[in-house]
Amino acid sequence: MEPISPELLRLNGISHSYGGPTAAAVLSATGLSLARGESLVLLGPSGCGKSTLLMIAAGLLRPSAGSVSFAGSPHLAPDPRIALVQQAYGLFPWKSVRANVLLGLQLRGKQLAEHELERMLAELGIEGKLESYPGQLSGGQQQRVALARALLLKPELMLLDEPFGALDSLTRERLQELLLQLWRREGFAMLTVTHSLQEAAMIGERILVMDGTPGRIVAEIGNPGAREPGHREGDGYMQTLARLRQAIGAAA
Ligand code: ADP
Ligand code: MG
Repeated sequence: MEPISPELLRLNGISHSYGGPTAAAVLSATGLSLARGESLVLLGPSGCGKSTLLMIAAGLLRPSAGSVSFAGSPHLAPDPRIALVQQAYGLFPWKSVRANVLLGLQLRGKQLAEHELERMLAELGIEGKLESYPGQLSGGQQQRVALARALLLKPELMLLDEPFGALDSLTRERLQELLLQLWRREGFAMLTVTHSLQEAAMIGERILVMDGTPGRIVAEIGNPGAREPGHREGDGYMQTLARLRQAIGAAA
């Protein structure tokens, strides 16, 4: 049997421009590598190409140049082992919570026992909301629905685009804790895009700082404490925040 490589995702020399060869590049010669079970964060200001890089990692966008591999094979199309949590939740307002949560599974032709669905929603604190519509939920609850939909796919890789960006800071911290608990337990790898220093220092075992037009990676900061419960209260978190501020200052 082939040994399973620890590397799950690799992006090599990625450049991208929207709208043809004459359009300006939004990403230039950017790369990253993500190990199985690892949590990696892309941190950078608005417009530096974070979402573009995430769409490329999802197999939803073909880069203008460079290569992408997932689990050792070229990655050119969406893969059932990857779940994406989009910016602004990506929920359909005209569908119930039940229909929204089950959508990902349905698209993959899979069934789910009612008790499993209820267990997942209870775990995410949205039990009893199955027949509600997104517009009847708070932002935090909508984000929990989006997380439930992704988690039910039992992904090997979770891609999260500014997952908690629209939430107040208390709700944001609670959901960060919840995501970290699930990550520690379920063992999926995560690639999270954010423009929040605190979120990067909280969630990422490694943080790639992006900047510029076209965007590129300008620094990498290790933050191994993100795996430990209680990380937010520890020295490691504060040190990472300071190092991120330095890296961003140097890039500006
Ligand atoms: P970020 O997520 O870091 O804010 P994006 O990847 O969304 O950055 O965008 C990077 C650049 O690409 C921006 O200048 C944005 O306007 C441009 N862009 C993003 N999506 C498209 C698109 N579909 N068509 C044309 N330009 C786009
Ligand atoms: Mg974005």
